[in-house]
Amino acid sequence: MAEARLVICKFCDCVYQRAPLGAREIARCSQCGAELYHWRRIDIDAMLALNIAALFAFVIANLFPIAIVQSQGRASESNLWQAIIASFSEGAAPIGALAAMTVFFFPLLQLCLFFYVLAPLRSARRPRAFVAVMHALRQMQPWAMVEVFMLGVLVAVVKLGDVASVTPLTGAYGFAALTLLLTLLNSYDLRELWDRASALPA
Ligand SMILES: [Zn+2]
Repeated sequence: MAEARLVICKFCDCVYQRAPLGAREIARCSQCGAELYHWRRIDIDAMLALNIAALFAFVIANLFPIAIVQSQGRASESNLWQAIIASFSEGAAPIGALAAMTVFFFPLLQLCLFFYVLAPLRSARRPRAFVAVMHALRQMQPWAMVEVFMLGVLVAVVKLGDVASVTPLTGAYGFAALTLLLTLLNSYDLRELWDRASALPA
């Protein structure tokens, strides 16, 4: 194992060697009594199921139109990429680029990297480049902003309601599901995966 198995007390800076814990046990600092870490149940199956469901939601969200806007007898609908391409041709390129990165590329990369780590761990294999992929996942977390996009869609639906009729379509429901699934997936502590991998042969 290349990773250090050390843990530091957040309150008094004492350093300890990590030891495996039994069910519901808590490791405490012997100097100040603060909690160092606690026993966690690692549910790789649940994470992998969320991961796969999120990939399906991602495909639906990106392939299908998000909304249909009807105003003065005209109707138009578009999916995420049609909206991004339109933003480039209408002088809002920075917003289009930001949306492409935060709503498409980062979430897709995040889901692929999660799958790359979770699938082998589930069958008790340690993926190659585990350390690099885990660092990438941690750094990517703040950059996948599907929930911000979802909020934007909701605001647009409400605000445009005065001048046009906006009806959410399949893509919007796909994004809603993706938001929920990504939030659940990201609520897991990545240290659980480190723990699981460190128990496996390299
Ligand atoms: Zn302490």
